[in-house]
This record gives sequence, structure tokens and C-alpha cells, in this order.
Amino acid sequence: MSEQRVYAGIDIGGTNIKFGLFDGDGKVLIREQRPTMAEKGPMPLMHLITNIAERLLYFAAEENYTVNWVGVGSPGAVDFKTGKVIGPSPNIVGWMGMEIGSIMKERLNMPVYVDNDVNSMALAEARFGAAMGARSVVCVTVGTGVGGGVIIDGQVVRGSSSSAGELGHMTIDIDGPKCACGNYGCIESFCSSGAMMERIKIRLNNGLSPVFNELLDGSLDNLTVKKIFAAAKKGDQIANEVIDETGTYLGVGLAGIVNLLNPQVVVIGGGITDGGAGFVEAVTTEIRKRAFSSAVEKLRVTRAALGNDAGFIGAGLLGEVNS
Ligand SMILES: [Zn+2]
Repeated sequence: MSEQRVYAGIDIGGTNIKFGLFDGDGKVLIREQRPTMAEKGPMPLMHLITNIAERLLYFAAEENYTVNWVGVGSPGAVDFKTGKVIGPSPNIVGWMGMEIGSIMKERLNMPVYVDNDVNSMALAEARFGAAMGARSVVCVTVGTGVGGGVIIDGQVVRGSSSSAGELGHMTIDIDGPKCACGNYGCIESFCSSGAMMERIKIRLNNGLSPVFNELLDGSLDNLTVKKIFAAAKKGDQIANEVIDETGTYLGVGLAGIVNLLNPQVVVIGGGITDGGAGFVEAVTTEIRKRAFSSAVEKLRVTRAALGNDAGFIGAGLLGEVNS
């Protein structure tokens, strides 16, 4: 029986680890997920990931698939050469310093490639997703935090010390709110789900609008980002204003990035994008308004297409693009 070449990828999220096998056309052959259980500490998580990799390799062997390497996407900055986590990741305490690459290589006895999770996602969207075929792509994820990944000429831009692409921490207002990174007025301090909820709360403090009153059972304590988008879809003016404003803030930052890098496609993903309600449209409008016309003439701004699969698919591709 002839063997089929497939790719194995693992995406470590703050809540869940998503993993799977896919073929050279991006068709997912197996996909699964497990709770990250970050609270158990970094070493149990490391054991879990290695275990997942072995499970994928075992499954591949059963099906006569050939896997040449395992790819891992991790939160935080990662030294791609060594596979070591070199930056903090707020959702996984103690993860910084973890030698993911060398631990897994030794255990699996095959090449292991590790990169930042949003870099991995950008690769997947550029290969099989919303930016399919594009050589220059800026990818941004908007959710609990705001992450970024940049691909130029088909290669992930990692920078001189594996810290490039953190566009969420570009300052857009020097007098803006304090950011999780310690600075003030970063994109993330305006566009994260927490920042959106704060702005809604301020506006609703003197009384809930009828739509929010119904959605929140009368209490602001029940506010979530999903409810903001639900309110917007029911025509709530405050919800629509805050979503539009959040998109505008992101667009202000991305306009600068577009002027700097002149990408073919800007891909916007993450929990907030899933809400719809004109968010991506607001981002697009602001980019087009602010960036140079020569830079936006052929620019496409679009929602991410691969959803939860993007992280593990991109991780699985790491060896191909860089070897
Ligand atoms: Zn910041």
C-alpha cells in the first residue's frame, strides 16, 4: 500500500489545545482538542503536548500516512531555531523558558518546529485560508488580547530576536488606557474584549437600554462580548457605536502597518471577528481612509477563514516553509 504524506500540527491555546493531521491540500484528516489545564503547571502541559504528538504519530502510522515533522504553535514569543519559549504568555503561568523543541525532539526522535501561535495562524491563512496564494500577509487576532503575525515574500517575519509581529502593542494614543503590557494606549488597550466591555459599561452605567436590559437580565454583571454583538444585531445603538469605534481603533493601527509593509491581504481573526455586526467593515473603512492610496489600491481586508483549525494547520506547515 502506498503511503500518503501528511502534516501534524498542535496549537496550544490558553483554554484548549487543538491538534490534527492534514494533507497537502489543507484537507483535515483528523482534528481533536483537549483542555489545556494550564493551572496544573508547565511540566504537566509539556507532557500532555508530547503525548498528543505521539497520539498523532501513532494514528498516522495506523493509516499508513508519512509524517516528516511535528509543528507546534505556542502563545508568547518563541525562538524558532531552538523551539524555546522566550516571552511571557499571561494565560499559561511559568511557560516562559520552556524548551518545547528540544524536549519533544528527544522524545519523538524526529524534527519538531515551534513558533508563536499567531505566526502559525498567519501561515495557515496564507496557504489555505482567507489569504490563499498571497505572498505578503498581515494577520491580526482580536479577542482577550490582540496578536499579530506577518508574512513577507512567503516567509514569517520573526525579527532579530523572535519578537516581531506584536502589532497589538503599537501605541495609537499616548494618553490612552493602561495596557496589559504596562504601556498606555496600545491597540490592545482599546480593542481587546475586556476594553470593549469597559466602554460599554461606562455608557450603560446610568441605565441599560431596552435591548441590553433584556439580554443581560437587567444586570451589567452578565455582560459578555457575545452579548454586545447580539445587542448590535438587534439594533442597539450603543452596541453598534462601540463595535464601530473598536474597529476604527484597530484600523488606525493597521493603517500604519499597511503603510509600512504594503501587504496584499490583511486577515482579521479571533473571537471578536466572529461576532460580525460590521466590525471588519469598520476596520477596513479606517485603513482605506488613513493609509496611502498606493498601499490600499490592491489591498484586501478580510475575515479569517480557517477558524479553529488555523493554529494547528499553520503549526504543521512550519517545517515546510522554513526548512
Ligand atoms: Zn500593550
